[in-house]
Amino acid sequence: MNRGSWKIRIFIGLAIVAFAFIKKCNNTEENPYTGRSQHITMSPDQEIAIGLQSAPEMAQQHGGLYPDERLQAYVDQVGRKLVQNSIARETPYKYDFHLLADDRTINAFALPGGQCFITYALFKQLNEEQLAGVLGHEIGHVIGRHSAERIASSEFWRTATMGATVGAGDIGNVVGGIGQNTLLKNGRGDELESDELGVLFMIQSGYNPNEMIEVMKILKAAAGPNRVPEFQSTHPDPENRIEKIKEAIAKYQGQS
Ligand SMILES: [Zn+2]
Repeated sequence: MNRGSWKIRIFIGLAIVAFAFIKKCNNTEENPYTGRSQHITMSPDQEIAIGLQSAPEMAQQHGGLYPDERLQAYVDQVGRKLVQNSIARETPYKYDFHLLADDRTINAFALPGGQCFITYALFKQLNEEQLAGVLGHEIGHVIGRHSAERIASSEFWRTATMGATVGAGDIGNVVGGIGQNTLLKNGRGDELESDELGVLFMIQSGYNPNEMIEVMKILKAAAGPNRVPEFQSTHPDPENRIEKIKEAIAKYQGQS
């Protein structure tokens, strides 16, 4: 390789990285419901579309929907109560709450745009207040736009990595597509934000927010000493989750 092409390659690489950064800055907006500034590249309508599109496949992976209509209606009713009594009501999202047939995997998750799921394995261990805690937490992921944020950051890294690999003279494999991990894998910050929002929604809906602490204990007990439940693969368990929940309860309980 001669010196000229080396310089051009570095220049193009830097230009691509710069482009990624500028795009990132242009796509930074304040979340109107959480007040947090975040990097997002899609509209709420697109989030809803992605969620609706992925929902059947996600349900299929957990044995489909639980067949008892009465229990589906109950889960929906608790979820809807949380939406009606909180800021979730004012968002453009289309909330749906589904009970999955899976009675072995302890899990709950939310797709962007409002599709929320809980497995029967987790559901059967919860009373109504605890169910409200889990669903409130999942609504928190929707309102916090955590999936959209992860998709945007994976786009950013893909572009930035492309710049770096071009600059280094090695056009490597750039992984494309939105994987399930991008949709579901929440970071520590996402979890704490969702816990806090969940606590707020519980209080606003007349549920006892201390039951959120019980949910954490149930999840911990379900994990056992050395078994990592599915829930933890999409919901990392930060050490101080219960501490932060207590802080959120103290913060919001006086306000409502
Ligand atoms: Zn979560």
